[in-house]
Amino acid sequence: MTDFELSERLAKLPPYLFAEIDKAKRQAKAEGRDIVDLGIGDPDLPTPKHIINALYKAALDPANHHYALDSGMPRLRQAIAKWYKKRFKVHLDPDTEVLPLIGSKEGIAHIPLAFVNQGDYVLVPDPCYPPYKNGTIFAGGVPYLMPLLAENGFLPDLGKIKSGVANKAKMIFINYPNNPTGAVADEEFYKRVLDFAHRNNILVCSDAAYSEVRYDRYRPMSILEMVGAKDRTIEFHSLSKSYNMTGWRIGWACGNKKAIQGLAKVKSNIDSGIFQAIQLAGIAALEGSQGSVEKANRIYKGRRDALVNGLSSLGWRVSKPKATFYVWAKVLSGYNSASMAKALLERADIIATPGSGFGKYGEGYIRMALTVPKDRIKTAVQRIKRSLPRHG
Ligand SMILES: *Cc1c(COP(=O)(O)O)cnc(C)c1O
Repeated sequence: MTDFELSERLAKLPPYLFAEIDKAKRQAKAEGRDIVDLGIGDPDLPTPKHIINALYKAALDPANHHYALDSGMPRLRQAIAKWYKKRFKVHLDPDTEVLPLIGSKEGIAHIPLAFVNQGDYVLVPDPCYPPYKNGTIFAGGVPYLMPLLAENGFLPDLGKIKSGVANKAKMIFINYPNNPTGAVADEEFYKRVLDFAHRNNILVCSDAAYSEVRYDRYRPMSILEMVGAKDRTIEFHSLSKSYNMTGWRIGWACGNKKAIQGLAKVKSNIDSGIFQAIQLAGIAALEGSQGSVEKANRIYKGRRDALVNGLSSLGWRVSKPKATFYVWAKVLSGYNSASMAKALLERADIIATPGSGFGKYGEGYIRMALTVPKDRIKTAVQRIKRSLPRHG
């Protein structure tokens, strides 16, 4: 007899908007159609060999077969601090300002448990990576949406946040380079965020998962480079996208000591650290040659240019992202996000993600991921040309 019920917090999660497209996707694949899948935010390139070798060696050593330290191996925390110093010129104390994570998603989803009480507001961008909203709801908090609009460069307009909300909010999530829009942030924006957070006594949670997926000379900055940022900022990083390690589950949080302590305390009651062999592989990633990162970025750039130039030549309104492997495209006139994704799949055998799946302000867009080879992207553009109306 199943007379138990789902918790109210699960019922409160936003509806899952991809169900219909997921079903159509499975059906198309089952029918054996030649699908170009631009839906997945997961690198197609393999994890670099030297990282795999480090895992292999470490996995053979029985010393690594036990429970790991919750706070991560000191050597990993040191490697993170060293990488961070080199990359952003910011000093982090490896003992108190760095916390390894089982992928950054778990840290992002867990941090509200440390700082949010029942009914507290958390400021979240919309469209966004879903754990900001859902982690907030799990902690009993209330997500307050900050629309990311094209006219503001997909940055939230902090001036639009009601003062009654701002001074009751506990945290703000920001994410640049941004998934799904591909937008980037500059010093001026981070200054506005920090001023706002300071005035309202808010913890800033900055998701920097895409800091290394970038093009040409552009180098995303960290908010922790800003003076005083460490007083109220925790930043999330991931090895997933930079080193093609999404399945390995390793990332970290860094920044404000109290924020790190709070998150560590939550985690110590939930998980028991990262498999040590994976931590050692993570050290190999951070300390080894960064050539694979550069190489992956060159490959993404070729794909980005093929897709954006191709779509633009068909009249689509789409700009080239400076970072991330996402292209955020306006839907054709007469379509919305869902019907555009459906038309692409049914008429062109292309999977793209409807922008509305990332939140209501994603309506009117689709997200295409550059995680298939360039010749497949060219095929996709040809199919769009053949089967869909020209824009404009
Ligand atoms: C992929 C992604 C992450 C990283 O996830 P991991 O859990 O580290 O694999 C974090 N934030 C955003 C916005 C992402 O797209």
